[in-house]
Amino acid sequence: MIPAPDAQLAADAASPPAVAGSAVATVSVPARGASGGVAPTRLTATSLSSLRRCARLFFYRYVLGLSRIRKATPLRMGSAIHKGHELRNCGASQDEAVAGATADYVVCPDWADPVEWAVERETVAALLVGHFWRYSQDNIAFWAIEKSFEIPLANPDTGAVSRRFVLAGKFDGLVQLADGRVAVMEYKNVGEDIAPGGEYWLRTRADGQINQYVLGARAVGHDVSTVLYDATRKPTIRLRQNETPEQFGERLLADISERPDHYYQRREVPRLEDDLTQFQAELWQQAQHLLEIRRRAERLADPACAYVRNVGRLTCGSCEFAAFCLNGIRVDRTCPPSGFEILADPHPELATEGGA
Ligand code: SF4
Repeated sequence: MIPAPDAQLAADAASPPAVAGSAVATVSVPARGASGGVAPTRLTATSLSSLRRCARLFFYRYVLGLSRIRKATPLRMGSAIHKGHELRNCGASQDEAVAGATADYVVCPDWADPVEWAVERETVAALLVGHFWRYSQDNIAFWAIEKSFEIPLANPDTGAVSRRFVLAGKFDGLVQLADGRVAVMEYKNVGEDIAPGGEYWLRTRADGQINQYVLGARAVGHDVSTVLYDATRKPTIRLRQNETPEQFGERLLADISERPDHYYQRREVPRLEDDLTQFQAELWQQAQHLLEIRRRAERLADPACAYVRNVGRLTCGSCEFAAFCLNGIRVDRTCPPSGFEILADPHPELATEGGA
């Protein structure tokens, strides 16, 4: 069974201390501002993924900076769980980390169903408590937590550095493994089977985000060749009739204690030099593609038209911009669609940093 909080605290005391003196500074890019003071565009793993999925989606999200005011449930839960990990890795107790992660659930907003809201809070709490229990003896030392990086994008053939783009991202953590090696730590909340040998893990072998993190860690001076992927599976059990959200949380925790491997998997995803070389070539190609789109956009009355739509069930089915995109409604930055706002910084996730 999952230990009570007091027992968990005892386990904390036995865990190795964080390694000191580990600040990872954001790498400044020499080319920034060199061409007329225009800062290069930051390309993150998420923004590049959006570009590959649909150029119009990229336009809405990263050119206009359009974002939903109210986060969808998976994003909200993911942010809360992420916050819990960050607090815990910074030294908070289990109770403090769970309280911090669920702080936004204290008041149920007008638009939410109070029971569903409470179930979401209990789910976040149970998944965090289960995770802390599952990995209480993992013998990992955190060198850095939630650290941003920004590195030059180079032409793989000539080595010339792009003046228009930089690679950017943020590590969940930079850790020292039990055998002394250094790894990037990446937490994922997953809505599919995470059993070893499954398709989920097969995809991580070619995941560009992992390549980007390895390159980022190396650029800030850490000899990293592997990423420790920490996957938490979202529960599939649901609230029963006549069950309270608190009882649901207890049942979920009991289920976690009976089959922890169903909910949590952690695997190393190594990267070879060939993987990184190929990835850098792909990055350059994507940046060139984006440059072409930008040039065309400058010549059009409606720049959005240069960012070609990739209409399909898989792309549009879960797209938050579908309501106006598929109806051909032009978005005015000064008057965004209802429920949306224009972000001053399209990458707010890079702005805040954790501890070390
Ligand atoms: S609705 Fe479809 S075509 Fe439009 S931005 Fe979204 S994914 Fe692209």
